[in-house]
Amino acid sequence: MPTWIGQAARNGIVTSRYPAEPATDAEVPETARPPIPLRGDAALHDGVARCPVGAISEEELDRGKCIRCARCRPAGFEFRGPVEASTGRRAELRVGSAAPAGPGLVEALPPLVGFPRSLHVFLVDAGSCNACNLEVLALANPLYDSQRLGIFFTSSPRHADVLLVVGIPTPEMAPAVLRAYEALPAPKAVIAAGVCPISGGAFAGTPGLLAGLEELVPVDVFVPGCPPAPVEILDAILRVHGRARTAGGD
Ligand code: SF4
Ligand code: SF4
Repeated sequence: MPTWIGQAARNGIVTSRYPAEPATDAEVPETARPPIPLRGDAALHDGVARCPVGAISEEELDRGKCIRCARCRPAGFEFRGPVEASTGRRAELRVGSAAPAGPGLVEALPPLVGFPRSLHVFLVDAGSCNACNLEVLALANPLYDSQRLGIFFTSSPRHADVLLVVGIPTPEMAPAVLRAYEALPAPKAVIAAGVCPISGGAFAGTPGLLAGLEELVPVDVFVPGCPPAPVEILDAILRVHGRARTAGGD
């Protein structure tokens, strides 16, 4: 016990200040942020052949497909996009050559009406590689402490406000995702966390897999990343509640 007290006194408060303060580089390192084509159209042109998942075209970068592998970096892409890149509109994950570098790329969603002050989240791993799963579970640890914001994970969809899906639904898990969605009482929201449930990510085109979670259930918030960092997932959950950091970020 005295050792723990000594450690606490030495370390001080280690819990994230997000969203009251911007995400730190330790929480989302530069290499893990959404890419931006710094050289504009030239970067897009040079990046097409480098991207292993077809996230880059001559016109745009699709963050809903990007696995953040950094192969496009030599073409003029930098990984300094906004942490607050989750959105309720799939189209907003497709950014052109003039993508802004700072936070506030997308508007905060209006709060989905009817939710209480706290939110209960039911997590479904529909077919992930487990990395997204681990990033979600990190929200409950003392570093992120989602309970300080009234966000709780529940083991039953019947007690949940939010269905948080990671992974692209496999044929075996698709019926389970659907049953979980139907079990949530109204009002309910669905978050697709990571590029797998958005577009299939690195597994897009695999026979038997869906093209995205949207084929199965309506999606309210899309969270790009492979995997998204815990604060990016936190931003998405807060977005459901209308409590996300606003455009401009501060
Ligand atoms: S970081 Fe994203 S956009 Fe760049 S090459 Fe990798 S998948 Fe493609
Ligand atoms: S989005 Fe990436 S990290 Fe998440 S489950 Fe899919 S492959 Fe894994």
